[in-house]
Amino acid sequence: MDEFSRLLSDAAGRAAHYRATVAERPVAGSVDEEALRARFGGPLPEGPSSPEVAVDRLVAAAEPGLVTSTGPRFFGFVIGGASPASTAADVLTSGWDQNGFMGVMSPAARAAEAGAGTWVKELLGIPATASCGFVTGSQEANTIGLAAGRHHVLSAVGWDVARDGLQGAPRVRVVANAERHATIDRSLRLLGLGDGNLELVDTDANGAVSVDAVRRALDGASGPVIVCLQSGNVNTGACDDLRSACEAVHDVGGWAHVDGAFGVWASASPAYRHLNVGIELADSWSTDAHKWLNVPYDAAFAMVSRPDVHSAATSYTAPYLMTSTGDPEMGDLVLSSSRRARGFTVWAAIQELGRSGVADLVDRCCSLARRFADGLAAGGLEIANDVVLNQVLVGFGDDDRTDRVIAAIQRDGTCWMGGTTWHGRRLMRIAVSNWSTTEDDVDLSVEAILRIAREEF
Ligand SMILES: *Cc1c(COP(=O)(O)O)cnc(C)c1O
Repeated sequence: MDEFSRLLSDAAGRAAHYRATVAERPVAGSVDEEALRARFGGPLPEGPSSPEVAVDRLVAAAEPGLVTSTGPRFFGFVIGGASPASTAADVLTSGWDQNGFMGVMSPAARAAEAGAGTWVKELLGIPATASCGFVTGSQEANTIGLAAGRHHVLSAVGWDVARDGLQGAPRVRVVANAERHATIDRSLRLLGLGDGNLELVDTDANGAVSVDAVRRALDGASGPVIVCLQSGNVNTGACDDLRSACEAVHDVGGWAHVDGAFGVWASASPAYRHLNVGIELADSWSTDAHKWLNVPYDAAFAMVSRPDVHSAATSYTAPYLMTSTGDPEMGDLVLSSSRRARGFTVWAAIQELGRSGVADLVDRCCSLARRFADGLAAGGLEIANDVVLNQVLVGFGDDDRTDRVIAAIQRDGTCWMGGTTWHGRRLMRIAVSNWSTTEDDVDLSVEAILRIAREEF
């Protein structure tokens, strides 16, 4: 083996060792931030080191500060793990070092995105004719969906926003689920639509908008309007009634965007598909592969029902960018130019799982969430949401006590859950979205939570 092969094999071996032992590591070790900063700090190296030394130093510096969020008992935020095949594909993606901007730079990257994008749309019940940009996350995907919406609704009233911007443009109304994800607001700020102009639609107790409320919000609407819907509320997992809501939006000529960062994956399971009935009617969709599909960071999709609107909103040209087909290039559907070839990991993940494997992954996570709720309720704790998907909210009494118990659970290290504020109350949030979580992991975690809740007054 030459030196570079040894270096890469060694790095892969270290990553494999980390993953093999991740379940035994404390989920959140007590991190000494000062020491970590010191390890990564210090003076700028004056000269070169061998690659081995550089990598050794990186491992020594980083390992004490890693969070085992890829392990089976990390239930904070909504963080998937990374499946074996997609992790290996990610290593290859780095080794191949392709620029995924356009096909001439990497025909393989382009074909992988086309193939994997087609599979993703089929799994999620999104029309095959939709465009699919491989982006960094649902933040980028929401921005693109709303940019396409802005382009389309303004174009419908004779305004070219790409050329003329928003100065002097007709007003665009933006209506959204009151419990939308905060990334929607950032996207609106970036797009010049502002978050202060949002018209909020009230939700039911679990965070889904009622169709009547959407219709009321749109009543008498004329002119440009974009409506932000949601599949998978980040606290409760609730999904909007997409069919009726999209119909209501289209009745007034509006654009319906669905933020489905994790919730749209319910469509991949026959048992949970009913949560997303009508998903195909929307105009744009965002979803992540790095959450529920368990692809390494970062991987997500921005999909638009009208590919021409998608690329009109996000593409650019330059004299040195010639395409042979006239079809949009990978870089035309995203907000970056030079970029990682994101199709390989997604393609490998879907190869690894197949249609039935993705459905099993969704079903398993949902039934483990149910198991959490049942176990904690049996132990006398309050389950504060309707557990429709993979999210569980737990109350420990008043806000102070809830925050104290959450902190104690995090210190204990058996499992990791975060806190959230839902309808004015502090609650613990459990998200189950890791391929490697088992019933034993849930039982062990329930036991730890109940023990800590008893100890913490
Ligand atoms: C996670 C999440 C986002 C943001 O996705 P990123 O991949 O972190 O950019 C947006 N919406 C919802 C509902 C989410 O759960």
